[in-house]
Amino acid sequence: MEKREQIYEGKAKKVFLTDDPDLVIVDYKDDATAFNGLKKGTITGKGVINNKMSNLLMQKLEKAGIPTHFVEELSDRETLVKKVSIVPLEVIIRNIAAGSFSKNYGVKEGTPFEQPTIEFSYKNDDLGDPLINDYHALALKLATKDEIELIKKYAFAVNDYMKAYWKERGVILVDFKLEFGKTSDGTIVLADEISPDTCRFWDAKTMEKLDKDRFRRDMGGVEDAYNEIMGRLS
Ligand code: UDP
Repeated sequence: MEKREQIYEGKAKKVFLTDDPDLVIVDYKDDATAFNGLKKGTITGKGVINNKMSNLLMQKLEKAGIPTHFVEELSDRETLVKKVSIVPLEVIIRNIAAGSFSKNYGVKEGTPFEQPTIEFSYKNDDLGDPLINDYHALALKLATKDEIELIKKYAFAVNDYMKAYWKERGVILVDFKLEFGKTSDGTIVLADEISPDTCRFWDAKTMEKLDKDRFRRDMGGVEDAYNEIMGRLS
């Protein structure tokens, strides 16, 4: 597989074309941002961890019946994935109140929900990724009704699988963000990444944060937390 020109550089990843028009290579960086790019920094070794964790989880999810963009891990930081057009929705599932949910609705962080919640943000940095509902997504033509239903079904299935998976490893899955993409034949697949950048992970015994909140909130021990959560995977 030949790596060709870079077509995109985001906050945490670069994307390269290959000699196959249906496949691209993602290259994970150690750059970290928060608060819509306002806070910038480096988390040494993050790219390797996010690449490997994403790939491991996507392979498990694929076996559990959720289609993903994953094709093949190429190196510590590089993975071959299906080329998709990203559906401009951030899909957030929550099991426990934290972050913007706690802030927006005045619910103490750590309050568990009887049922998981789902919400959508319109992926648009200029607008600050505003919270929207299904009807807004339809009006904005971000996806069709059937695609939105499928995305919701997959997102809850990812939560069911991941909640149990992390529980076995002494980790509470608090919340996470997913992105979906459309392949050239129109298939909706799970894309982007699943990592400590995009999930809140709390140690089940100590309730210690093992995710990007340590960076967002200047808590220190960021690299150690990423290494700790990665270690739970093996
Ligand atoms: N999240 C993300 N990217 C974003 C916003 C949120 O990956 O641009 C993840 C975040 O890591 C957390 C979940 O989505 O696991 C819910 O985040 P929240 O809405 O509470 O926003 P935050 O407090 O991170 O601003």
